[in-house]
Amino acid sequence: MNTAFVALGANLGDPAANLRAAFAALANLPESRVVRASSLYRTAPVGFAEQPEFVNAVAELATALAPEALLDALFDIEQRFGRIRAERNGPRTLDLDLLLYNNLAIDLPRLTLPHPRLHLRAFVLQPLAEIAPHQIIPGRGTVAAWLPAVANQGIVRL
Ligand code: ADP
Ligand code: MG
Repeated sequence: MNTAFVALGANLGDPAANLRAAFAALANLPESRVVRASSLYRTAPVGFAEQPEFVNAVAELATALAPEALLDALFDIEQRFGRIRAERNGPRTLDLDLLLYNNLAIDLPRLTLPHPRLHLRAFVLQPLAEIAPHQIIPGRGTVAAWLPAVANQGIVRL
């Protein structure tokens, strides 16, 4: 089995309920199981400020799916939740990003690992640090080491 970390985010409908349902959908992925789930966090939107607050979380998966197959499966779940791909960083019922896959560093047209902005975002780093503080971000060091860099970003554990 491989270790993958997935970021969950939502700010439309009932975001907390969407995230709980998304955790259940992740648990139902083929050849995969959810090893750990972070708490839910309420965070201020990045990008367009004129939109509802986000709820974010991170899941650790053990999976036999290859990275691109896992990404496709995450896109399928987003679609089932009615995600409309409008503007980047805009409102969404559910966003699932693949943060890390083992210690893989790749740059494909539709999949970059580690996720290129993961170390800059409190809404990813904080829930990730809750479940895997010593996890290495390939090329960057541990998750915990990056936390101080995002300490000024507003985030509240629910
Ligand atoms: P964002 O999450 O940045 O707001 P999207 O969810 O619409 O925006 O993703 C934009 C594109 O990012 C997708 O088409 C996807 O192929 C690409 N992408 C590249 N690397 C990753 C990754 N690690 N996880 C998720 N999507 C990724
Ligand atoms: Mg995304």
